[in-house]
Amino acid sequence: MDGKTKTGDVHMRALRLPDWKSEPEMVEVDQPTPGPGEVVVKIGGAGACHSDLHLMHDFEAGTVPWNPPFTLGHENAGWVHALGDGVTGLEQGQPVAVYGPWGCGTCARCRVGVDPYCENPAAAPVPGGGGGLGLDGGMAEYMLVPDDRHIVPLPEGLDPVLAAPLTDAGLTPYHAIRRSWAKLGPTSTAVVIGVGGLGHVGVQILKATTAARVIAVDTREEALKLGQECGADLTMLSGADTAEEIRRATGGRGADVVLDFVGADPTLALGAAAARTVGDLTIVGIGGGTLPVGFFSVPYEVSIQTTYWGSRPELVEVLELGARGLVKPKATTFALEDAVSAYRKMQDGTMEGRAVIVP
Ligand SMILES: [Zn+2]
Ligand SMILES: [Zn+2]
Repeated sequence: MDGKTKTGDVHMRALRLPDWKSEPEMVEVDQPTPGPGEVVVKIGGAGACHSDLHLMHDFEAGTVPWNPPFTLGHENAGWVHALGDGVTGLEQGQPVAVYGPWGCGTCARCRVGVDPYCENPAAAPVPGGGGGLGLDGGMAEYMLVPDDRHIVPLPEGLDPVLAAPLTDAGLTPYHAIRRSWAKLGPTSTAVVIGVGGLGHVGVQILKATTAARVIAVDTREEALKLGQECGADLTMLSGADTAEEIRRATGGRGADVVLDFVGADPTLALGAAAARTVGDLTIVGIGGGTLPVGFFSVPYEVSIQTTYWGSRPELVEVLELGARGLVKPKATTFALEDAVSAYRKMQDGTMEGRAVIVP
């Protein structure tokens, strides 16, 4: 791998979403050039996220405060290609990851690197979005990053192809798990529901950063096999009595932490039924389900929360786990021309782990 680029190219290929409720198309666009404070990254890998399928098929005008057209790809890594005026501390060819959520940069949340919860989204490059989410993302040869604070240098030995999925498929479960660390001691049990693009990395992160026992739950046998490969202590094919099975496996207590990477009605119901008193039920998947919460509907003192992406300091930590081989997303690479077929495999549930587009 190298950071060298062809010179003289002014066009590049990009996979763009032309409109809501439409399929992405491969088009020729102008190569970006960086303005003051901006950085252009030569893309080494761009992860294909399940949420992109929602962008293509489910979202419509008004769902989010931004609109197509834009280039897809919100989990990106590669090499610094060009620096705008005033950018210091980065060198051309240096391997980097792109922190994906882009807030205003000056509010209390952004100042501590928690851009997903920016308190002044109107002042962000695009409200509530980022590259691949309203602005041009990484499914192209080059990507414009509008502020050098979103560039995170890769630790020694981490390939951009593996770093790319770590910026979302790694960072999102890492954030969800990290906030529950206090409940994940050696006598604890964590349940991961949905061993897909995020869930399989979630299992690895639990094993790498906690002493808790990990139970992986999915409806697909192949996903359970992946969960096992990632270090799950126990796997369960999801069914009518899965909550009972989890209780049996935990001496009747239930799970200290349930991470729902699906977020549909049945998985939320399972999470609530399997959680231990004073446990955490964290909804990461955007499956659109709902869960009735009332005095008798969930065990006492169970905390229920959604999480969205993660912070910049947490990305630094996830990349470190990646560089040390403790977290390694199962990545299948696709050429940019084949990105559409990667999304098709994700749609029909036959993609194992994470698809990474390598332009
Ligand atoms: Zn994503
Ligand atoms: Zn902000």
